[in-house]
Amino acid sequence: MDRRKFIKNTALAGAGLYVGSMVSPSMLWGMNGMARKSLPAIIGGESVHPGGWPGWPLWKDEYDQKVLDVLRSGSWFRAGVTEEFEKQWAEMLGVKRALTIANGTNSLITALKNMGVTAGDEVITTPYTFVATVQAILNCGAIPVFADIDRETFQIDPVQIEKKVTPRTKAILPVHILGMPADMNRIMAIAKKHNLIVIEDTCQSHLAEYDGKKLGTIADAGCFSFQNSKNLPIGEGGAVVSNDEVFMDRCFSYHNQGFPYGTQLGEWGGSFMIGTNVRLSEYQSMVGLVQLPYMVEQANTRWENGKYLMEQIKGIPGITPIKLYKECTKAVFHLFPYRYNPEGFEGMPRELFIEAMNAEGIPTVAGYTPLHTEPFIKSAFESTLYKKVYSPEQIDYEAYMAANQCPENDAICNEESIWMSQSMLLADKSSMDDIAESIAKIQKHAGSIMRKYNKGEIG
Ligand SMILES: *Cc1c(COP(=O)(O)O)cnc(C)c1O
Repeated sequence: MDRRKFIKNTALAGAGLYVGSMVSPSMLWGMNGMARKSLPAIIGGESVHPGGWPGWPLWKDEYDQKVLDVLRSGSWFRAGVTEEFEKQWAEMLGVKRALTIANGTNSLITALKNMGVTAGDEVITTPYTFVATVQAILNCGAIPVFADIDRETFQIDPVQIEKKVTPRTKAILPVHILGMPADMNRIMAIAKKHNLIVIEDTCQSHLAEYDGKKLGTIADAGCFSFQNSKNLPIGEGGAVVSNDEVFMDRCFSYHNQGFPYGTQLGEWGGSFMIGTNVRLSEYQSMVGLVQLPYMVEQANTRWENGKYLMEQIKGIPGITPIKLYKECTKAVFHLFPYRYNPEGFEGMPRELFIEAMNAEGIPTVAGYTPLHTEPFIKSAFESTLYKKVYSPEQIDYEAYMAANQCPENDAICNEESIWMSQSMLLADKSSMDDIAESIAKIQKHAGSIMRKYNKGEIG
């Protein structure tokens, strides 16, 4: 396996970032023990961190019996375990209700639809997200409108949101991306002024806090994903949370074929609204439930290590840690992001820096590419539904793209961003030092690396 393939295969899989089996790259490339520690591994030195990293998800022996009991019971369909999981998840967040859903994407669709978002509406969101956020908007027949991000925080910029509000705007869908809060006070103020719904995409930010409040509980509703790479992994799974009982009852009905539930029980005989089936099963719920007791500790470890690492790297030329809003009381670092500037590294291209980090045994990737330029939005605009609902001007793709330019997002995606996975932040403090040391070592020897690169010997 060559170097590039190794990096590609292990660095990115699934929706966010998943670091698979952690074999030290230098072990694979055969350094024969003659390398020197002081030189970067990419030019023949020794890896700073050959020992590997915590994998993900983490399984404990004590989970075996509980999951096996559910499997042996034959009671696999939504029942008591799922209810208990929902109850405990709601309690941990400090919100009245949680409803499990088959996955995060459908949690967003469930929340948007039951908040009344439909064909003809516009929903303002961020371009710096996983594609599911935008797919959810299109699945409601609505038009995604992109508000550019704040280059320092990687989060949706409230100033840009306000510029995108039109009479057709129905909702704002901020994403707490990478495990850090979006600027909720400003976003909620804009929503109040223009009478807009706000749904928080919290799929990457389980137990993170803004102003002491858990993310997902600040706006009208919050949506979670429990996909394999997420901070609460079930494989597939999701949840909608809210303090609005009637809304939550409608979401319940929607997720269960429109059968009435709670406040929606009445004189209806059977299904009373358009619904679908996006229920979670009992064994999936148990896989989530058994992990809940460890979530606070894991979130705190990532927060402590994340803050520490930001401090360690902030003085390195060409490196800028992400900025957190002053209201951020806890970030959970679903990813550990920072900004890379080749000027601090003798002009070293970002891809080469990433390769050098991987050679040190620090799994590193570039992160998202600009998603608003992918073909799926054009495909939606060309669909029969969109052609029937919207005027030709509204779904003129060229005009739409021109109005949805996001230069800050493009710069972060195409030039600056660097990511590491959340599970790496579950390692000990000396491992955080190894990450900082690797960046510093590569920076210090950037000239030597670039000479080899320019001669075509590496990269
Ligand atoms: C993972 C993710 C989703 C979708 O969740 P799935 O469970 O994979 O459907 C939505 N939004 C963001 C920001 C995500 O990271």
